Amino acid sequence: MSRILIAEDEERISSFIEKGLNSAGFRTTVVNTGLDALDFAVTGGYDLMVLDIGLPGIDGYEVLRRIRSQGVAVPVIVLTARTSAEDTLASLLGGANDYMPKPFRFDELLARVRLRMTDSVHPVDHVLTVSGLQLDTLTRRATVSGGQVDLSAREFSLAEEFFRHPDQVLSREQLLSRVWGLDFDPGSNVVDVYVGYLRAKFGAEHIETVRGMGYRLR
Ligand code: CA
Repeated sequence: MSRILIAEDEERISSFIEKGLNSAGFRTTVVNTGLDALDFAVTGGYDLMVLDIGLPGIDGYEVLRRIRSQGVAVPVIVLTARTSAEDTLASLLGGANDYMPKPFRFDELLARVRLRMTDSVHPVDHVLTVSGLQLDTLTRRATVSGGQVDLSAREFSLAEEFFRHPDQVLSREQLLSRVWGLDFDPGSNVVDVYVGYLRAKFGAEHIETVRGMGYRLR
């Protein structure tokens, strides 16, 4: 299983990222200072690092500079609240492989994580199969009984949440936070609407409503 180091000092954001990555099948370690980020990154025990720029102690740029100067080649995705072109260029020149401006949706980060890990990770589990339905998380294609089905990016992310947890009841709140991100209105019915889209494409019998609890892929 792939291991990801998360260096982020805002607990709300680190736990959001950690839960999402765990749910997508990654093992994670969270650190919240620049020096801890450096200590953990240089162990070589991680397949990827998500690195916030604004960290206490030494900042993310300095962490990156030091790990690269020690020859540590771990892929790094930088999180930055600053979005100027200058900033982006600085992080890429500083040895980052990608960057993610805050605020971001979890599925956007996950797509970048997967992209950066494609080379280093043998592509196990990238095709998820549940009772005649298949999702390929690398090509982002879905098939039903061998025939291809077109899904929007959001539908795909929602479908993937179900496929990674077959037979488990997923609540609206879980689905909202994992697929739509932090800032979505919890009173929204967007989950129900998208479950309806998936039922239309996969066949209604595949996604069961569990009253008062949520939905389950069968
Ligand atoms: Ca920060």
